[in-house]
Amino acid sequence: MAATSTNPALQALNVRKSFVSGRLESTVLHDLTLDVRAGELTLIAGPSGCGKSTLLAILSGLQPADAGQVRALGHELGGMSMRALEHFRLQHTGFVFQGFNLFPALSALEQVELPLSYMGLAKSAARRRAVESLEEVGLGPRMQLLPAELSGGEKQRVAIARALAKQPELLFADEPTSALDAANGQIVIDILHRIARNHGTTVLCVSHDPRLVGHADRVLAMEDGRILSDHVPTPPAEPKAKEPSA
Ligand code: ADP
Ligand code: MG
Repeated sequence: MAATSTNPALQALNVRKSFVSGRLESTVLHDLTLDVRAGELTLIAGPSGCGKSTLLAILSGLQPADAGQVRALGHELGGMSMRALEHFRLQHTGFVFQGFNLFPALSALEQVELPLSYMGLAKSAARRRAVESLEEVGLGPRMQLLPAELSGGEKQRVAIARALAKQPELLFADEPTSALDAANGQIVIDILHRIARNHGTTVLCVSHDPRLVGHADRVLAMEDGRILSDHVPTPPAEPKAKEPSA
């Protein structure tokens, strides 16, 4: 790995991606370069259609880029075999999807245990970790319930617990709040922030939801397949403490 002073957890260098539809080729990512610092919650914010999901899929190794390089935890993803990439994704990354992607017939606890058994964890260790993760997202008392018995916000918290239980270094979230009302969206983004803070996990979230901006450690604004700006947001003001009554 090239020696750099900061060693970001994730780097994209001149990443290009186009899709061909009929005779038309449209470029979705235009030689995009970015880095994501370890242990932070980074938000990539931009309007619908600007290429956020495509970028996240490429950075997480779900899709290949047409050109350019992606380096994750010091590994060049483009240079990996399919098998190595699959192993890397299983062992080091977690992914939270917009639509939760839960199995209808499995309880919250079983949803979280499933990837842990794929990772080769013994049943008792998987159970312990799954329970811990569900407790961390506030779902301890509801872990035996099926998705149909949970609210949207709770379903998304199960999906986060499932990703968190893998203890990934990199956690990706694609529009994790878009199916939720403001209060539940707030809970979800607070949980992602806490995961970055408490576990040192690098969390990369993409969203078109402007409410999330103040909650990230860093915001990259994206438009039309390009990163336009990079800033550290001002956190939202805490509600004022009430004056003690005389
Ligand atoms: P965002 O997540 O910001 O809404 P996307 O990355 O989903 O944006 O999509 C960016 C553009 O790429 C859109 O115009 C979309 O139609 C196009 N696109 C995404 N995936 C595909 C695909 N598999 N085939 C063709 N076009 C695609
Ligand atoms: Mg999207």
